[in-house]
Amino acid sequence: MNTIFRQTACPHDCPSTCALEAEVLDGQTIGRVRGNPRNDYTAGVICAKVAAYRERVHHADRLTKPLQRIGAKGDGRFREITWDQALDEVASAIEKARAKHGAQAVWPYHFAGTMGLVQRDSIHRFRHAFGFSREQETICVTTACNGWTAGHGKIWGADPREIAESDLVVVWGGNPVSTQVNVMTHIAKARKSRGAKLVVIDPYRTPTAEAADIHIAPMPGTDGALACAVMNVLFEEGHADWAYMRKYADVPERLQQHLASRTPEWAEAITGVPAADIRAFARLYGGTERAYLRLGYGFTRSRNGASNMHAVTCLPVVTGKWKHKGGGAFFSNREAYGMDLTLVKGLDVIDPNTRTLDMSRIGAVLTGDRESLKGGPPVTVLFTQNINPAEVAPETGKVIEGMLRDDLFTCVHEQFMTASAKLADIVLPATMFLEHEDMYQGGGHVYLQVHKALIEAPGECRPNLDVINALAQRLGTDYPAFRMTAWELIDDALRRSGRPGADDLLEMGWVDCSKPYEEAHFLNGFKHPDGKFHFAADWSKIGPGHGPMSSLPDHVPVIDAPTAEHPYRLVAAPARRFLNTSFTETPTGRNKEGRPTALIHPETCVALGLADGDRVRLGNSLGSVVVHARPFDGLQEKTVVVEGIWPNDCFEEGVGINLLVSADPALPGGGAAFHDTAVWMRPA
Ligand code: SF4
Repeated sequence: MNTIFRQTACPHDCPSTCALEAEVLDGQTIGRVRGNPRNDYTAGVICAKVAAYRERVHHADRLTKPLQRIGAKGDGRFREITWDQALDEVASAIEKARAKHGAQAVWPYHFAGTMGLVQRDSIHRFRHAFGFSREQETICVTTACNGWTAGHGKIWGADPREIAESDLVVVWGGNPVSTQVNVMTHIAKARKSRGAKLVVIDPYRTPTAEAADIHIAPMPGTDGALACAVMNVLFEEGHADWAYMRKYADVPERLQQHLASRTPEWAEAITGVPAADIRAFARLYGGTERAYLRLGYGFTRSRNGASNMHAVTCLPVVTGKWKHKGGGAFFSNREAYGMDLTLVKGLDVIDPNTRTLDMSRIGAVLTGDRESLKGGPPVTVLFTQNINPAEVAPETGKVIEGMLRDDLFTCVHEQFMTASAKLADIVLPATMFLEHEDMYQGGGHVYLQVHKALIEAPGECRPNLDVINALAQRLGTDYPAFRMTAWELIDDALRRSGRPGADDLLEMGWVDCSKPYEEAHFLNGFKHPDGKFHFAADWSKIGPGHGPMSSLPDHVPVIDAPTAEHPYRLVAAPARRFLNTSFTETPTGRNKEGRPTALIHPETCVALGLADGDRVRLGNSLGSVVVHARPFDGLQEKTVVVEGIWPNDCFEEGVGINLLVSADPALPGGGAAFHDTAVWMRPA
């Protein structure tokens, strides 16, 4: 058989956005998938999940036909219908909702089920052109972005390829071995060629922490305190770079004064990390010029997550690490690309008076919470693409309650029969990336990529864009982009953004959008109007709810703190072989992950009378779930970790781990707090 590897790019919700090569066996079938060795970020290395992608793309359970519900909501009984019937049903439901409550009763709902800019974001054009409710995209990066912006002004950082030229890499609040494998490639280069040290700061001993020279495990939500104590030592022991700070930072003297009382002993009481370990880390960091902070999202998924991010990002400014190649910090390049997505998103037809609903509060929205509905009409049509709120959203119990409403019409456009699809009125089969065209900007690196379809989709699957365009035409529109193909939209966006056109970019493979070194390291100034890094954050500019925030870095005690009733802090962390709920359907991933499991400190297991494999119930005011206990000494006694968003039907009572996660907005400006949950535990 003649086979050929063809260029493509990974669409999944992962900062790596790997440059891929897929082996095309015939017009319908792929074989192996591998990292493109010519791309110097991917460097030929991808995760096991995507390397085994043929399991997913050719899965027997793929949705391949439009379906209409014929049973009660959630009982799983559907019948096959034609695409015309399905689109007519959806359009008719939208028309009815508009006639009864106005256009804002319709809520198109999505996030990063695909990261392709056209297939992911065309849903915004749909909402804006018809005046449907807008969506505040708070479920993933909001707190991290807010915390970074408060200090730097813009979201980019030291080129991640510079990690290979670092002498100390600090992975703070991330687990790249499981979630962004390419980071480890560049760390390995630094370790091999320079003898670089790796420090991991994470509440539990992740696979990345296992590979580290030093692992520091603070209690979840206390990273701000840890960062303050590290800075206290940096100032006390002469590691502060005063010349750099006087040029590049706003209030260094005030910061020093403020931190004088934030000693390692002060932080030990909050974080649970021994003061001696904090001092040792501060000395290592302070004494290494080329020290690179690779910041993850984990430590920001907390009510005080923005504050934690801001505090940690002060470290390289206090010490002037930004001056050095291989030094500084990075968490995302999202504002480095400057893409103009006007037509893709319909940005020129936004009505600013249309309400914006917080996607993390979908449970409250669908159950009629007036504040969450912003005083507007109920949502009576929910239209989703590549997202599974019945498992991934906080307060999952409330989400399911809302999706079961008789007066809610739900259309789910998906690849598999997810928990959300089971609750839908109409289910539409969606293509995967190998079956459509799209464009990607890598948040974790510097490359813009495009790809074409490599194989035909199974059955009657359609791309997101085709469904959006077909619905818009049924509802009546003269907005030109609803008649454009994906390739035309990609080409338009690239040309508007001053990039090569779509065909040229395909030929090139990718384009390097990195900032020049001085810009990436903020050596031309930080991106606030005064050109300074802001130790004194103006949280009022970030969003509402800034009252309890501290302007200078601190521990902001707004977390779901442990109490006598709820003594443990739960981290609902990602699993290595799942990506949100994607890949939970593939047999290899499922088998390797095993079953929903709580990692519990051995002393806690003894205190609770739990042995390895015992059923254990975790609960709080939102409900409780049963998982299996595994004694694990890589965390503090009051921390418990459950990895993976397992499907609801893997839990005894049919609702998964996010049942316990609050939808309280993080401060300021919102954001989901997935790792900020106090729980009780007892044998089940
Ligand atoms: S590491 Fe991330 S971007 Fe790369 S193949 Fe895996 S999921 Fe995709």
